[in-house]
Amino acid sequence: MRLVLLGPPGSGKGTQGARISARHGIPAISTGQLFDRQIAAGTPLGRRAERYVRAGELVPDEIVLDIVGERLEGSVDCAVGFLLDGFPRTFPQAEALDRMLAVTCGPLDAVIDLDVDIDEVLDRIRRRARLEDRLDDTEDTARRRMKVFAEETAPLRRYYQQAGLLRTIDGAGSPDEVAERIEAVLADVTHPELRLGG
Ligand code: ADP
Repeated sequence: MRLVLLGPPGSGKGTQGARISARHGIPAISTGQLFDRQIAAGTPLGRRAERYVRAGELVPDEIVLDIVGERLEGSVDCAVGFLLDGFPRTFPQAEALDRMLAVTCGPLDAVIDLDVDIDEVLDRIRRRARLEDRLDDTEDTARRRMKVFAEETAPLRRYYQQAGLLRTIDGAGSPDEVAERIEAVLADVTHPELRLGG
């Protein structure tokens, strides 16, 4: 299965991504996590990315594409598939992904779009900021990240809608509830012939 997880900051992509990964035995590739590790390790890439992550801005496409390209080419087993969390976030990234997949694993199977209320998400980010020490979880950067999402990433819904790949999931409720909704959609993606009434 080749999946993309789309959704605003704080929508539960990380939580749900880990579950999908464990349940279906596919690696979850999180660009946010890749950057966090590079920043923590003080690598050249981390140093280039840090100021953007801290400010709640997107890391420039060419930096992102460098590391995602490397990761996809180097260690993805097409027979197993993958789940991308936090990538793509811009049109150029989405187009680059399509081009990469065209010469490697073949097209995506689905884009899981976690739909959550913006106020709910800001609330979650505030709570998370008290529990975890994230670089990017101050109130200001959280707002900035929401704005960047609305402007740069949300339009990708249309792109994937037109490709027939978009599966919008209600992201409200407990992690278990959301996971159940995702599983129902993934069952349909892998076995559409079993669709009720279909
Ligand atoms: P969240 O899931 O809360 O949105 P992430 O961990 O996915 O947070 O991302 C944290 C930060 O890492 C982003 O705000 C951005 O600065 C950077 N980042 C992650 N993925 C990308 C990407 N695909 N393009 C540009 N920047 C990215």
